[in-house]
Parts: sequence; structure tokens; C-alpha cells
Amino acid sequence: MTVVTRFAPSPTGFLHIGGARTALFSYLYAKRFGGKFLLRIEDTDRERSTQEAVDAIFEGMKWLGLHSDFDEIYQTQRFDRYKAVIAQMLEDGTAYRCYCSREELDQLRAEQQARKEKPRYDGRWRPEPGKTLPPIPEGVEPVIRFKNPTEGQVVLNDLVKGEIVFDNKELDDLIIARADGTPTYNFCVVVDDWDMGITHVIRGDDHVNNTPRQINILRALGATPPQYAHVAMILGSDGAKLSKRHGALGVMEYRAMGFLPEAMLNYLVRLGWSHGDQELFTRQEMIEKFDFDHVSASPSRFDMEKAYWVNHQYLKTADLDEVAGEFDWHLRQQNLDPANGPDIKDVIVQQRERCRTLLEMAEKSAFFYADLTGYNEKDAKKHLTAEAADVLTALGAELAALSAWEAEAIHTSVNGFAEARALKLAKVAQPIRVACCGMAVSPPIDQTLLLLGRERTLARLRAAVDFVRQAG
Ligand code: GLU
Repeated sequence: MTVVTRFAPSPTGFLHIGGARTALFSYLYAKRFGGKFLLRIEDTDRERSTQEAVDAIFEGMKWLGLHSDFDEIYQTQRFDRYKAVIAQMLEDGTAYRCYCSREELDQLRAEQQARKEKPRYDGRWRPEPGKTLPPIPEGVEPVIRFKNPTEGQVVLNDLVKGEIVFDNKELDDLIIARADGTPTYNFCVVVDDWDMGITHVIRGDDHVNNTPRQINILRALGATPPQYAHVAMILGSDGAKLSKRHGALGVMEYRAMGFLPEAMLNYLVRLGWSHGDQELFTRQEMIEKFDFDHVSASPSRFDMEKAYWVNHQYLKTADLDEVAGEFDWHLRQQNLDPANGPDIKDVIVQQRERCRTLLEMAEKSAFFYADLTGYNEKDAKKHLTAEAADVLTALGAELAALSAWEAEAIHTSVNGFAEARALKLAKVAQPIRVACCGMAVSPPIDQTLLLLGRERTLARLRAAVDFVRQAG
């Protein structure tokens, strides 16, 4: 048996991190068994589905590298198929037409509520042997209902939650097509999972109650139901429903915040799944190790600090090409031209120990790619003093005279300069930093100046001296 899993989002908004985790679990499970993973857009609710949301889902999945093994699938392109299945079910007697009007159903509900009963369809149009159905009213388009078994149980052996038993008498006859002929959500899911040969349905546990109905319909169609894994929710760090105040919700917001996609996957895989106390996994390791035995049945909590930690571990160790692709994007987001400065890979190597995100790295590296627009006020006050101006003037002359612009030569020059004047190194290095970077933090001075280049370094030292003189 080839494992086939799917991620089936309804396109009503951005790709939420909860959805991304479901997609990741589905993807990993399929890959683990050499199977296939597909992305299915559940856009039957035409009022709530938007093209922007579809685009946002594709964008998020692409950024995370969760690629579908099939072409794009949209439920709205499969209506003919759903209608054909419904016609077949009417013929087989596993579905029937119901001519109840809205008023009748409202009245039924009111009566049941008055009797303190659970509101449910009473089966008045359900054909049974020997039963006479009401006369068909004129001018009423019927809905189609599934003839759910009235006896017995549905036993769901959920891969995460274990056994859950549902009594058929608790399930009423689900509407599978509306009066206008459009199929309903639960029905489309069933036909799709069947047609697409889905072997494992992995989804949020908000769908548990749909499952017995879906299993019954599959059985009525003569299909073998897939296995199900219902994954518990992601909560905020305080145990409340995850919301904006706990951190960003959309996957692409994490990109803007400076996360690497692989770090995001790594963070997400540990939300609800564990493998001993291992925290960091390559994609390949996730694929090899992911299983449902270690997916928790209870909700997990989102921990922003941990997400940052994971991201930092990736920034420090990830393949430079991979980081460079994202870093380039971040520089451009800040209207910086990556070509107008040092090779971004060299900058990453210098910055990655000190930055937890690519956004931070881009902000702290902007001075390499654009003219300074000013100095950090506090840093300038402290380090760009009259005394510092003399240091920068003299040191500038020495640096200008270096025969080669190399790290070691710069290092020797700066250190030698401080020693010769019996100055603490910081008295030299900090004014240089503020002059060249606009702030008092940067990678080591020799590396910073090397990457900045001779022309820019000397021009910035001169500009800082002018700044001090003008201020004084
Ligand atoms: N379209 C459903 C949702 O976005 C998922 C349905 C499923 O996975 O079966 O919640």
C-alpha cells in the first residue's frame, strides 16, 4: 500500500501556523513511507473562499518547501464528479430527497427544544420498507440526505486519540446536497479522500465529529475508510486559545520576522510531537523519525522564545546558500540593494552568532549596503567626542596608507595605533564603530572594515570627524 496523505485547507485566510503544522505532519508521514502528499483546496464555500487566500496558502507552502506531488486540486472543479456520486447514491438507496421547508425544520427544532431534546432531523422523508412518505410538495427543490445507519456504532481507531466510539443513533441524516444542487462540505471531503486514494487523513481535532459521518458515507459507497489522525490544537503560552497577542499566526509573518523556513518546520514539528529530548532535526531526520505514537493527544503550547532559539540555531549552522537566499530577500524588503556592498555570505558569517533572526541581521547590516542616515544618538554622544575625532583623523591617515585592505593589516593597524597612544582598545574601536556603522555594535572591527571596504571606511571616518567638529 502506498501511503497518500493530504492537506486540505479551506481558503478563507492566510496559512495559519496550525494549518502549517497539520500540513507538515501529513507531508512527513507520506515521505516517511515513500508515499505521496497532496494539497487540496477546499473552496466549496464560495462566499468565504477568496483567491487571495488561495494564493497565500500556495505562497506559505512554497516557502516552507512542502511541495505537493500532484497538480493543484480545487473542489470547485470537481462538482460534476460529486453530482455523479450523489446520483448513484440516490439510485442505490443510500441517499434520498428531503422536501422539508426551512419553516418545517425550524418548527421541528422548536418542538424538540421545548421537549428538551437534542435538535435533529426526524427522518420524515427517509424511505423505509412499508413506510408511506408525505406527498411531494409543488415547487420545492429537495435537499439530498445521506441515509445514515440507525443502529450500531462507528469505531474510530484514531492514530493520535485512540479508540473513539460513536453511536449511529446520535447521527442524523446529513444533507449531502443543498436545494440548489451544490454538494456540502462533508460530502466533498469523502468523495475526494476516496477518489484520491487517501490512506491517512491527518487533520485538526476540530474535525473529530465529522469523522463518523464521513466513515458511514465511505462505507455506503463501498470504500474502505482511511486511517485518521486528529491532531490537538496549538494553544498560546498561557494555555488560552492561540491569538495574535501570543505571537504571529500567519506563516508568512514569520518570514517577515526573520525566520528561516527550515527552522520554522523544526519548531512546528515539535509542537505536539517528540523524539526523546531531541530538539533539532534536519528535514531528513524529521522524515525518518516522525510517527504518530509520539504525537500528543493534548494541546501543545506555542513558545515564542523557543521559536527564536530554534531559528538562531539554524542561522548559526545552516547552509550558507540557504541563508543567503532569505537574507537577500530581507535586505530588499528594507529597500537595500544587496549588490551595493559586500558579498552577503560574508556578512552572514560575521553576523550570525549575534542575530537570532534575519530581520535583526538585515537591520544590523544595513550600514554595509547604504549610506548612513545618522548615528545612534546615545552611541554618538558617548563615543563621538572631540578626543575621538582626533583618534579618527589620525587613524584614518594610517588606514589610508595601508598597502593592502586585509583583515590582518587592519587589525595590526588599529591595535598598534591604540598601543602606541596607550589607549584602551575600546577608545579606538567604539568611535570607529559609531563612525562606520552608525552604532556601537558590530562584528569585530577588522572584519567590519574589511567588508565595508577602504573607500567607505575612510569616507565615514571623515564624515564622523566633521560631525564632531560641527557639533562642537
Ligand atoms: N478544509 C478543512 C479545514 O480547513 C479540513 C478538512 C479535512 O482536513 O478533512 O479545516
